[in-house]
Amino acid sequence: MSERHYLDHAATTHLRPEAREALIGALGAGNPGGRYASGRAARALLDDARERVADLLGCEPVEVVFTSGGTEADNLAVQGLYLARSGSAIVAPPVEHEAVARIAAHLAAEHWAEVLEAPVDAAGRVDPARLPELDRRGTALVACMAANNETGAIQPVAAVAERCRAAGVPLHVDAVQTAGAVLDASGAPTPFRDCGAATLALSAHKFGGPRGIGALLVRRGARLAAHVHGGGQERGLRSGTPDVAGAVGLAAALAADRAEGERRRRRLRALRDRLREGILATVDDVVVHTTEPALPGHLHLSFPGAEGDSLTMLLDAAGVECSTGSACSAGVHRPSHVLLAMGVAEDVARAAVRFTLGWDSAEADVAAVLAVVGDTVSRARAAGMA
Ligand code: PLP
Repeated sequence: MSERHYLDHAATTHLRPEAREALIGALGAGNPGGRYASGRAARALLDDARERVADLLGCEPVEVVFTSGGTEADNLAVQGLYLARSGSAIVAPPVEHEAVARIAAHLAAEHWAEVLEAPVDAAGRVDPARLPELDRRGTALVACMAANNETGAIQPVAAVAERCRAAGVPLHVDAVQTAGAVLDASGAPTPFRDCGAATLALSAHKFGGPRGIGALLVRRGARLAAHVHGGGQERGLRSGTPDVAGAVGLAAALAADRAEGERRRRRLRALRDRLREGILATVDDVVVHTTEPALPGHLHLSFPGAEGDSLTMLLDAAGVECSTGSACSAGVHRPSHVLLAMGVAEDVARAAVRFTLGWDSAEADVAAVLAVVGDTVSRARAAGMA
């Protein structure tokens, strides 16, 4: 196969060497519930992973509930907070990931929840001043993601949290795209203890850990109903024999991610800006959806007149792996609900492509896109919209 360039790190990123080594080293771990030596050894590994994660994210070890990933963490939070409260409203912006939106819709269909939209502006950001009245409506919870998976837009979570605190309503933050943290406008992470959320979801494969492991941070004292019932592991919120190796891999990846910190953010921002400027210099009539403050590796744009699916297929054939950024349903590509909520016209939304850079992205990845993007867009435009 010819040289490949991966620019879909928001979908999943490469396993970091530190995480691979930690994961392999712990793959033989037994059941941490066992009261014999091998069980105690597994328990020590799990406790150590939990303590490392807590230390890195600024919470207590007991607040870390390991799950199978971001989707499960979001489902546990939204359903758990909803079922444990007396309120009937779930307030969420229309740009949330399906892992939040679909469980809210399920609760509306099956458990009498009323889903209220928190309006967003043309950049997809929530306006905290325009949140629906939280106290008057008996709100069970508010959900607000830390940053959007398609555009990379960083949400004003601190201001939303302040509204929630004043109304006494729990806030769930989907921090899957931000390695488990609410970010300030400069992109720096806020410790969980200071972020005002009751629950916060993260997923290891988005920051260089293994796929199939994540966590929900659950503030001590938060009232949450379990969604997996059984042996009572993970504070009784998520029963099942824990994935010790996964937790160890997650902790190692998170440590590596945090160690890179601002240095990586600067490097990715510079690469991403070169990619954007290069595309704008090469191709006419481009609509850029990513606006600051945003994640440093995200670039979401539309090439009106071309179908997003055609663009990603042609780019794939040219060695560039990227996505449209939005979900496929039974092989049919739908325009992104995020872009539609931002007021983008449907034909422009269908012409979207998302390039996302990650921890091991390099100059050559940007150069590879710039070498083929002009020809690719011309060919996709010639093919037209389906
Ligand atoms: N939330 C957001 C914002 C995401 O980007 C994703 C994955 O794309 C998820 C939740 C789901 O995470 P996972 O793939 O670990 O289930």
